[in-house]
Amino acid sequence: MMREVEYFDQKVETASRDELAALQFKKLDALLKKVFASNRFYQNKFNKTGIALSGIRSVDDLHRLPFTVKKEFEEDQEKHPIFGTNLTEPLENYVQYHQTSGTTGKPLKFLDTQESWQWRGRVACHILKGAGVKKGDRVLFPFNFGPYTAFWIMYEGAYQLGNLIIPTGGWNSLQRLQCIIENQATVIPTTPSHALRLVDTAGEYNINIAASSVRILMLSGEPGALVPGIRQKLESLWNAKCFDYIGLTEVGTWGFQCTEDPNGVHIIESEFIAEVVDPETGLPVQEGEIGELVITNLGRSCMPAIRYRTGDLVKVKKGICPCDRTFRVLRGGVLGRKDEMIIIRGVNVFPNVLASIVESHIQPGDDYQIEAYKEAGVDEVAIKLETKEEGRGGVIQKAIQDEIKSRLNLRVEVKVVPKGSLPKSDYKAKRFIDRRKDSHV
Ligand SMILES: [Zn+2]
Repeated sequence: MMREVEYFDQKVETASRDELAALQFKKLDALLKKVFASNRFYQNKFNKTGIALSGIRSVDDLHRLPFTVKKEFEEDQEKHPIFGTNLTEPLENYVQYHQTSGTTGKPLKFLDTQESWQWRGRVACHILKGAGVKKGDRVLFPFNFGPYTAFWIMYEGAYQLGNLIIPTGGWNSLQRLQCIIENQATVIPTTPSHALRLVDTAGEYNINIAASSVRILMLSGEPGALVPGIRQKLESLWNAKCFDYIGLTEVGTWGFQCTEDPNGVHIIESEFIAEVVDPETGLPVQEGEIGELVITNLGRSCMPAIRYRTGDLVKVKKGICPCDRTFRVLRGGVLGRKDEMIIIRGVNVFPNVLASIVESHIQPGDDYQIEAYKEAGVDEVAIKLETKEEGRGGVIQKAIQDEIKSRLNLRVEVKVVPKGSLPKSDYKAKRFIDRRKDSHV
């Protein structure tokens, strides 16, 4: 079969590493000039370290600038309400408001200008094209437009690419399914759990979702297409290809899966500079070693994140992707959060690896939760499992336990819990609970 790779900007996406570094520096230099001139947050930060603009003469000099951590943004917004001091432009220039979910503290507010919003849309064009979206695809959005950015930027990307956009906010799952079928939607940005919820509803109403025109699911918000168990399940239920896109409100959406490598995530290096550092020392790790991802966004000078510590652990894959993009690939995408790594009897385990094993055994309507806790000072993990039909639990429980044992050489407790006892959420299922810091457990 002939390979058909879609590019948003083929020249940039397949540029040599030297050309890419030159492009990055051009954008970094323009960003830093603005930030040094009128961004109080970074002026203060850079003044403390005594670094001058003239000290940054290439991308390799970036390490001379200090890291930025989330706590600094939080304290800045706390001390300087409403929006903090990380604003390079006069407040009246900002046109878009978003905030983080606040799962680990008070939500952070982020603002975009018209210029930076267009940049964020361009980033989304890379993501959509990476997944093979073509002219004529119809993109249906099965969600409400809230303050979180993930779907907004896909909307902006689809708009910039010139695809038909079908909004279904405020509707229930059945109305959304009917809209998908009636208007022959082909691309759906959603969360994995909502994609499964739609399958459940389709089953209840005898709608054959696999026979629909949907050919691409764009997934975010939870572990999705990068987890083989979840990808295979969604791809077979929907008869569509699944792609993850990855980002953070603080920096923007920096990564996407292409059509040629289902196990990797490209960093959009024309718009972001990525470093992979040792989480303890902050020094760069060797290529191919696990480290923390540090991101500098190049197109959001109005409210930038410079050398931002994401807390995400990643591993750069060697070599060029079969799609011919020279943007580096992270094997397995984000392997886990720095603070989520569980060390069980000497084995490093990430919750999403356990999730992928569980996901490959459960069926639509089943649910689960992974809980890490401490017992006698050491990490332990338990998996709670809820099945749609009672009586099936025991079989799945054993299958999951056996697979964890054979793949990870670990004994993990899997408990079957009564139906309805796990919390349900449409968009961001809380599947990993970390109780290791709870003092009362
Ligand atoms: Zn690729």
